[in-house]
Amino acid sequence: MLKNSVDSSLVKIGRIHHAHKKYNIFTSTRPINKLKQQILSLNKDESKLLSGSLCSIKDNIATKQEYTTCSSSSLRDYKSPFSATVVDLLEKHGSIVIGKTNLDEFGMGANNSYSHIGQTLNPMYDDNKDSETFLDADKYVPGGSSGGSAAAVSAGVCDFALGTDTGGSVRLPAAYCGVHGFKPSYGRISRWGVVAYAQSLDTVGILGSNLEIIKSVYNVLNQYDTKDPTCIDNQVRSRITALTEKLTSIDDAKKINIGISTDYLAKGVTPDTLATIELLASKLFGSGYNIVPVKLPSLSNAVPAYFTIAYSEATSNLSRYDGVRYGYSTIEAGKETTEDYKSFISKTRSEGFGAEVQKRILIGNYNLSSEKFQNNYLKAGAVRKKLTAEFNSIFKLPNALYTLDVQGSDVHSPTKVDFIIAPISASRAPKLSDLVEKEKSDPISTYVNDAFVIPSSLAGLPSISLPWYSNSEKYPVGIQLIGQYGDDQRVLEFAKRVE
Ligand code: GLN
Repeated sequence: MLKNSVDSSLVKIGRIHHAHKKYNIFTSTRPINKLKQQILSLNKDESKLLSGSLCSIKDNIATKQEYTTCSSSSLRDYKSPFSATVVDLLEKHGSIVIGKTNLDEFGMGANNSYSHIGQTLNPMYDDNKDSETFLDADKYVPGGSSGGSAAAVSAGVCDFALGTDTGGSVRLPAAYCGVHGFKPSYGRISRWGVVAYAQSLDTVGILGSNLEIIKSVYNVLNQYDTKDPTCIDNQVRSRITALTEKLTSIDDAKKINIGISTDYLAKGVTPDTLATIELLASKLFGSGYNIVPVKLPSLSNAVPAYFTIAYSEATSNLSRYDGVRYGYSTIEAGKETTEDYKSFISKTRSEGFGAEVQKRILIGNYNLSSEKFQNNYLKAGAVRKKLTAEFNSIFKLPNALYTLDVQGSDVHSPTKVDFIIAPISASRAPKLSDLVEKEKSDPISTYVNDAFVIPSSLAGLPSISLPWYSNSEKYPVGIQLIGQYGDDQRVLEFAKRVE
């Protein structure tokens, strides 16, 4: 049971409106009075794992009670007839949902700028949190796409938040907002009721202000769900347990190897970030752990492979929003009365989707066209396979999804590792004004940080973003700890040693 006092929960709830007004965190919140009543009527002896904890849910995860908008005009009035499995599990274990959080439309973005309700802002850099005024100079980007979830935790209005991580959308905002963000292995946590962006990459992740809460939530959500065909079944879960049990305990520092790859560090990281990685490596070395250089040559191809796969899957997933079966319709909005269904669908989708989503649908269709499929889509799949084989060749733990002959060769690391450490982003969160300027002069710059987080997504690996403070710094740098597929539990345990 969480040791949340009634008083501290009431303080958190009391802050919701002020924090939302300042940082634009939520797409909707539950009535404050009802939340207070829920807290006051909690049974003190209740022993559920998450009793009385307050959580925020990213608004691409369905909840029966309110709209599930995906921060898109196309779904602004959409109410799901059921809640996602993850939401049911949280409520069953005593957690209280306070609201739905803002995101980049359908999860597509890295700054939380592409939302139909506007930009979410980063609470961590706000030095006057209690004040109503918010100087432009203090406005920083929260990261995306789960920017609202990270901001909710950072603003202290909830104990944890759920996000989704398709290509870094939990880890990057966690790093920017100075909180912890965990992306589990692909298939660990049910996606039933989570609106698909790119289904071969989508995962539900957890953001929290400390590791303990993340572990508790993970323990609740780490379950096979028959409703999600991509959720790993109990047989695979047992195989993973049997394989991990053969590994050395993380307490035996001399036998634990930590991999560092210069391939991760070659992507224009700032001296600050580089220094943090060096400092962390020397701290771990000082504690007796072995630091091992590893090679991941396919990292340089990860970004194009990811965007080819993600856009293609998104194109297919988003085809359902045609105004007939789901969401916004130009006729219902009173804009179009045509009988011509093609113009109806095209107008509905042009009015319902934002520019970034439309761009991705166009590129996705291009990659899936008969002319480009072989050269683009299939090649991206081949890169993904190669990268996964490289990771398999580095880790001590065999990948439970592969047979031994495709585990990968030893060329990339003769000494096998338990974990890899890497940056989460090239630098700390940018100022909002700098981001706007940069996007104008260099539109590709918005994808730069994806290079650090996408490799784990392509290979389905468990990865956690940890806020790491070096002695003199006021704000943390996000450090990424990555484990082999299925090794979620040990990643969470080892994270404690890295902090
Ligand atoms: N920046 C990535 C993208 O835009 C993040 C996606 C995600 O994890 N939802 O695709």
